Amino acid sequence: MDIHEYQAKEILSNFGVAVPTGALAYSPEQAAYRARELGGDKWIVKAQIHAGGRGKAGGVKLCSSEGEIYEACNALFGRKLVTHQTGAEGKGIYRVYVESAVPIDREIYLGFVLDRTSQRVMIVASSEGGMEIEDISAEKPDSIVRSTVEPAVGLQEFQAREIAFQLGLEPGLIQQMVRTLQGCYAAFSELDATMVEINPLVITGDKRVLALDAKMSFDDNALFRHPQISELRDKSQEDPRESRAADRGLSYVGLDGNIGCIVNGAGLAMATMDTIKLAGGEPANFLDIGGGASPERVTKAFRLVLSDDNVQAILVNIFAGINRCDWVAEGVVQALRELQIDIPVVVRLAGTNVEEGQKILAKSGLPIIRATSLMEAAERAVRAWQNDLTQNTKMRAV
Ligand code: ADP
Ligand code: MG
Repeated sequence: MDIHEYQAKEILSNFGVAVPTGALAYSPEQAAYRARELGGDKWIVKAQIHAGGRGKAGGVKLCSSEGEIYEACNALFGRKLVTHQTGAEGKGIYRVYVESAVPIDREIYLGFVLDRTSQRVMIVASSEGGMEIEDISAEKPDSIVRSTVEPAVGLQEFQAREIAFQLGLEPGLIQQMVRTLQGCYAAFSELDATMVEINPLVITGDKRVLALDAKMSFDDNALFRHPQISELRDKSQEDPRESRAADRGLSYVGLDGNIGCIVNGAGLAMATMDTIKLAGGEPANFLDIGGGASPERVTKAFRLVLSDDNVQAILVNIFAGINRCDWVAEGVVQALRELQIDIPVVVRLAGTNVEEGQKILAKSGLPIIRATSLMEAAERAVRAWQNDLTQNTKMRAV
């Protein structure tokens, strides 16, 4: 789960990371009011969306008067901001963060990620802040400092100091940098984050180390033990198909193709998407309906897949170990009857109670296309989708 910049800053500041003073606003009036509360004569108005690259896309504006704050807000509120991280449809702006403008001397990149190879938290830092990490690694790879943290002891002071020295910080700033690094690491590990990124972390004109931007993502599977974090979820920033799935306890990722997939098990779901591609089609989604798939759950899955208008055929692929094929078959029949599905549905069942499952499908009298192997299922789904498409085009032409 992603959160907003202002939320990440609040969390990090509770862990001792210094951030500029700022306040959240839901309207232009509120933004102007909050700027007055903050005081000073220069503010940055920042669109709060779950994506970076806002600066270049016009989502971060420097203002020196109340009038300019209104102007900036009017240009942001209610719009969709398209950055290189949002995709073409962009993300809606419903909140802005008003922050005191800070005089910047130096910009540093700082990131905390999970390194799968070492199975540890890895700190990635670079003296070339302000640029995206992808660009830094392409253009200035030598500027990148990497350091992994030993989980048994956490981030040690000497290790944090070493990073600060490698970034070329002057002696007077080392202690502030150590505090920042340790604060980020503590937030990362205590809150089950998957990513903390501060870009830029700046050295101000008056020698302070400040996080000017902050991004945090959390492990969905650990959210249950952090109620104060799950509270921060903002559905306006999520793909509506994915929020609907999460609300129903299904694991779903929306894609751009036309063949909807209903599968049990994440590995099998990945294999199903690959096989559809191999057969010449494009999957519309990743969907793992989980182990104990009751008929109700299968119907929910159909509803979810069909809520995507691009879906023109559905492939159900179940390998039942814990699951039962007869249950899934009942679910398929129930869904087809209830939802009056008029696109081709291909079902491949294997494993526990497969004969009963096949009987239920056959007895239903519904036009379900059956397949035995995954390859056969994928080929049938792609063929059915193509035939359906030509028929519909012909009908439209008539
Ligand atoms: P994004 O990464 O989405 O583009 P940032 O928060 O990094 O958004 O802001 C973009 C740029 O705006 C920063 O690199 C920094 O140069 C400038 N900026 C952001 N906040 C402030 C601030 N409080 N004071 C001065 N400059 C700022
Ligand atoms: Mg940034």
